Amino acid sequence: MAVIITDLCINCDACLQNCPVNAILDDTNNPLKQKRYYVQSEKCVECVDIFDDPQCAAICPSIGCITWDMPFIKEFDAHYLNEELYRLCDIDNIVKSPAVKEKKYRRDIPLNMRGIGKKVQVEPLN
Ligand code: SF4
Ligand code: SF4
Repeated sequence: MAVIITDLCINCDACLQNCPVNAILDDTNNPLKQKRYYVQSEKCVECVDIFDDPQCAAICPSIGCITWDMPFIKEFDAHYLNEELYRLCDIDNIVKSPAVKEKKYRRDIPLNMRGIGKKVQVEPLN
């Protein structure tokens, strides 16, 4: 994926309006039935080649809500097949996991900065 929305989400709808590739689903369409917005990892491109940084995180008012996930590449196929965290789309019964199609990701974000709890947004300085 790319990025993942945590339970800090307040369902404000801003990220969904801002995503350039329509990768975000609202709480009523969350495939995991969670009461928060959901990023379709098989669609998210981390805004690579479109914007300088993830636009969902840039507009999200809840700091810490959007966190980096692993790159959506073959190496992390098993990670994305975890149905407790993701429900990938399928076409003709072929699940669109990274082994089927990899997505772009930000190579300047190292693996040790990725994972639930690793914030995309920076806390504002007061
Ligand atoms: S990082 Fe970009 S492409 Fe991915 S969900 Fe956020 S706005 Fe959409
Ligand atoms: S912008 Fe943030 S708080 Fe608002 S719906 Fe998206 S993830 Fe949730």
